[in-house]
Amino acid sequence: MDEVLFNKATLVGAELDYVAESMASGRTTAGGPFTERVVELLTAELDAVDVLLTTSCTAALELSAMLLDLQPGDAVIVPSFTFATTALAFAREGAQLLYCDIEPETLGLDPEHVADLLDRADRAGVRVRAVVAVHYAGVACRLDRLQEVLADHPDVALVEDNAHGLAGRHRDRPLGSFGRFATQSFHATKNFSCGEGGALVLNDPADRERAGVLHEKGTNRRAFSLGHVDRYSWVDTGSSFGLADVLAAHLLGQLEQRALIQERRSAIWNRYHQALGTAAPDGLLLPSVPATADPAWHLYHVLLPDRGERDRVLQEMNAAGIWAVFHYVPLHSSVAGRRFAAPLAGGGQCPVADDVSGRLLRLPLHLSLTDADVDRVVDELLAAVRRGAPVPR
Ligand SMILES: *Cc1c(COP(=O)(O)O)cnc(C)c1O
Repeated sequence: MDEVLFNKATLVGAELDYVAESMASGRTTAGGPFTERVVELLTAELDAVDVLLTTSCTAALELSAMLLDLQPGDAVIVPSFTFATTALAFAREGAQLLYCDIEPETLGLDPEHVADLLDRADRAGVRVRAVVAVHYAGVACRLDRLQEVLADHPDVALVEDNAHGLAGRHRDRPLGSFGRFATQSFHATKNFSCGEGGALVLNDPADRERAGVLHEKGTNRRAFSLGHVDRYSWVDTGSSFGLADVLAAHLLGQLEQRALIQERRSAIWNRYHQALGTAAPDGLLLPSVPATADPAWHLYHVLLPDRGERDRVLQEMNAAGIWAVFHYVPLHSSVAGRRFAAPLAGGGQCPVADDVSGRLLRLPLHLSLTDADVDRVVDELLAAVRRGAPVPR
């Protein structure tokens, strides 16, 4: 039987025409005409001050870490349950990391643990400069409470690692518009892609000028192109962060079809949810979405009763050609995670992240999936779960 791939990059609009147009124009480098169109689209969509396209979400996180101007001893709070570069980007700029647990409903940062870490850091004389939030699966983390906690700490910046969240909303406001910075990913595994790509979203006008310099290899070339200075030179730190315009061309083709992409992703998500909800097998926990969230439909996951069952079900599905996967290995207990951890008494415990990491299974979700594929994934999952069910007496 055919395999059901976990992910497949799918063309949905004018991607190839735009790439051909970019190649023919000879303006394939960063900052070209397609970049301009993507920036305009994203700035409007996110109600942002500005958007800078980058080579990846990781690069955008690095850029945000540079813009924080971290000093020796500064700390950054990151979720333990996330992709490594959510944390690495800040460690690389010298931050000590404080690992925050997730809360069980949204699998996003637990604001009560954030409050606790901020208290402990205060008492230990550790200066926390930022809290990085991930909207897991494209569902807003507990933003209301997080904003309440951060209101007592006006010097602590909120950074949204919005790799999952583009097109998602919280109380009808776009994810990516809540932090001082938000970062986007256009990696092939994300909702909208160009192979590898990203963006830094700026929501504070005060960051605009320096962000432009750091993004342009530490030069004031952007001010020069805008006619603000009559020559450009090296003025600050930075790197070559810009996305090639030929990739922005591909990305524009995807983003123009965002309504169609989101409609199909939502249909697949809901087909999984309905089929699994109806079957309601014991020991299979389905995702839940708070009433205040409009999800970005980035991924569909289920929780099995324990690690042993998860590993068995995953293996049996893979053997049947269904490429379900698991993630994340919690950062607080990883080799590098421990190396960059702030030594803070009573910190370092993330029991929910540990628990979820062992039980979570992600199902295929991409635009090349047919309804029949989705139904087959459901059948194989349910069959695998039932094979492990205790035999009734
Ligand atoms: C995918 C992802 C990243 C990394 O994105 P790249 O564009 O590959 O650098 C970072 N954080 C989260 C939460 C992600 O899912």
